[in-house]
Amino acid sequence: MTVSVAIDLALDRLFTYSVPGELAKKLLVGQLLRVPFGGRIARGFALAVEENAPAAVPAVPEERDLFGNVIAPKKKPAKAAGFSLKPILAIEDESPFFSPELLKLVRWIAAYTASPIETTLKAALPAAVLKPSIKPKELLYVEPVVPTPADARLTPHQKALLADFARVGGGWLQQLVREFKTSPSTVHALAEKGVVTVAPRVSRRDPLAGRRVMPTKPLTLNPRQRQALEVIDAATKPVLLHGVTGSGKTEIYLQAIARVLERGQGAIVLVPEISLTPQTVRRFAGRFGEQVAVLHSALSDGERYDEWHRIRTGEARVVVGPRSAIFAPVRRLGLIVVDEEHDPSYKQDETPRYHARDLAVVRARFEGAGVVLGSATPSLESWRNAQTGKYALASVPNRVAGRTLPAVHLVNMEQEAEKTGHPPIFSSPLLDALHLRLERGEQTILFLNRRGFSRVLECPDCGWTAQCPDCSVPYTYHRADDCLRCHVCGGWTRLPAQCPDCQNREFNYTGIGTQRAEAALKRCFPSARVLRMDADSTARKFSHDDILSAFRAGKADVLLGTQMIAKGLDFPNVTLVGVLNADTSLHRPDPRASERTYQLLAQVSGRAGRAEKPGEVYLQTFAPDAPAIAAAASDQGFGAFAAQELAARHQAYLPPYCRLATLVFRSKIDELAASWADLYARSLASWAKQFNAGKAGEPFRVSEAVEAPLAKAEGWFRYQIVVRAPSTRDIVAAVKWIEEARPAPKDLRIVFDVDAQNLA
Ligand code: ADP
Ligand code: ZN
Ligand code: ZN
Repeated sequence: MTVSVAIDLALDRLFTYSVPGELAKKLLVGQLLRVPFGGRIARGFALAVEENAPAAVPAVPEERDLFGNVIAPKKKPAKAAGFSLKPILAIEDESPFFSPELLKLVRWIAAYTASPIETTLKAALPAAVLKPSIKPKELLYVEPVVPTPADARLTPHQKALLADFARVGGGWLQQLVREFKTSPSTVHALAEKGVVTVAPRVSRRDPLAGRRVMPTKPLTLNPRQRQALEVIDAATKPVLLHGVTGSGKTEIYLQAIARVLERGQGAIVLVPEISLTPQTVRRFAGRFGEQVAVLHSALSDGERYDEWHRIRTGEARVVVGPRSAIFAPVRRLGLIVVDEEHDPSYKQDETPRYHARDLAVVRARFEGAGVVLGSATPSLESWRNAQTGKYALASVPNRVAGRTLPAVHLVNMEQEAEKTGHPPIFSSPLLDALHLRLERGEQTILFLNRRGFSRVLECPDCGWTAQCPDCSVPYTYHRADDCLRCHVCGGWTRLPAQCPDCQNREFNYTGIGTQRAEAALKRCFPSARVLRMDADSTARKFSHDDILSAFRAGKADVLLGTQMIAKGLDFPNVTLVGVLNADTSLHRPDPRASERTYQLLAQVSGRAGRAEKPGEVYLQTFAPDAPAIAAAASDQGFGAFAAQELAARHQAYLPPYCRLATLVFRSKIDELAASWADLYARSLASWAKQFNAGKAGEPFRVSEAVEAPLAKAEGWFRYQIVVRAPSTRDIVAAVKWIEEARPAPKDLRIVFDVDAQNLA
């Protein structure tokens, strides 16, 4: 018997070992093994087991030539098969870390995103699970012996204590001691008399410990919700659940999951990292209690270890987490829910560059599970799949209980600027609306997609701006610590005393950040209670939740924040939403800029008027005619925007009408990055010529090599090529062909992103 092993190094190939007889009986794919490797001992995952001694050892992945034919691997296996294969040394853990289905998914990702298999395996497993130092936590547990031995001689005090323990059925020693005001030695004395046992037991490190979770019952669904639930339940293909904000999508998910659990299956719920707030988690834990496992980036290693093992053993059957939770080892997977499926945080921006929404569809297919993609503003990829019938569509066009969507007003900031000579932070219509809310005791959310005090420090005389030397972006002034910070690399510097170019000592601050908006707001409304929420104010572990809880409890009139507050929040008393600059994401060099802008505005607007009182939204803009902005303020809804945007994408040959990949060339040596980008662009163009021969409309298109929009980051120069083609496989084949011929030199990194979500 032989086994192919992915060693814990990014070598992107598998190594074949023989399996000694005594291990052969226990060997399973997905197990973590110990193997000899180049004179040391390495760990690796068993990917495939061959019963018979191999005639051919396929130690390298299949490769294809220019025309898609399979060619013989160039890298030969080191030794002829059957001869000197080394035996594996041990099986580290008998229960596999990956089920065969998950391994299939991992291999699919590695091939699709052109990533090394080992890196992909690693991304699919929480690091805490593989750390030898992380172990289950054991505490002493006390259990009354039933029935109480007849010959036990207890003092009246001991008898009373035993009765207390019996009533609660035992518990953790520490807790019982606290609850019944006794001491550990008293409990140990009971154990000596044989009436209780005290023994170590694995204690779960519960991420929700100490947080109140109120159990909830299913709500009675309205007809549209019920219809959607039936579509989900009966579907044989992915379902796109398009429901406006506040239409009760979460309740639909909860009831769909309940049905899955009744059938003895499990479910995964993906939510954007940013909306993985305790509020969201509580909604699932409130319905499914202990069966819910949470995977969150803020968990401790111990919590993550325990949650992962609870999932693997089947103790937890509902997993709620961000994109990496798509790899949760849920048994008998019945349903995957992707909430806010359009959210950019589902795309992983390091190798393997997978998109969790797409993986949800692939994993569901592999495991015969259902999949629901939910959003008020679906991605155009998913929307088109629903239009062509590849996905089923379930729509909930109205808010629950007859509540209306907010009235959205555009404020033309060009005109506002004419009134005062410069654009104000708060326009007069927004100020009036705010004033009204303060009078009525209602709450307001103000949204500004930029943290810090002011964006840029600028010399009014010569136009010099303070810029990070390692990144091609201006510094942002942070008032709290009176310094300039780079939002790309995190570096900082003090304020200059004078302009380095012209020695002028006065500076202008241009642009508005959350801190400056907060200061301006306090000047306009000195008595208003304002909470600010951005990356600076939420650095502590629970401050995110604390701020939201305080706002919910009515301890503030205004919540002012970045996109952190755009999604998922449900505050009944919020009747006004103001977007201070609706245009921030509009002018980015990104094919999805318009889509993102619309999504963001619709999501923020959706925070207003979610309960009985109707809501109102003010969008401050310099571009009231831009399609995304105009659509966000019209009552035509998402469908109208999508139709218009899809037509534009079709015209321009952009996703979803093609696949768009990027290659980014990074080097500390500017010339090196530039010349290699150019070389690749030319090679790809010649590939494209061959590919397109005889085909209509140039389906394979390669851009010139250009400076990336972020031309320099952390000292690395960046150049970029954009490739478009009918399928990702076509693009991967072309890039692999060039990489094979022209492997990158030492000082150059080439980052290949097969479904690039932005061109940064
Ligand atoms: P969405 O996720 O679509 O934005 P939510 O699921 O958050 O909407 O629902 C908005 C509010 O409506 C929540 O407070 C929820 O409890 C409530 N809700 C959902 N469905 C119903 C229903 N059928 N009847 C009454 N209230 C509901
Ligand atoms: Zn100057
Ligand atoms: Zn920087």
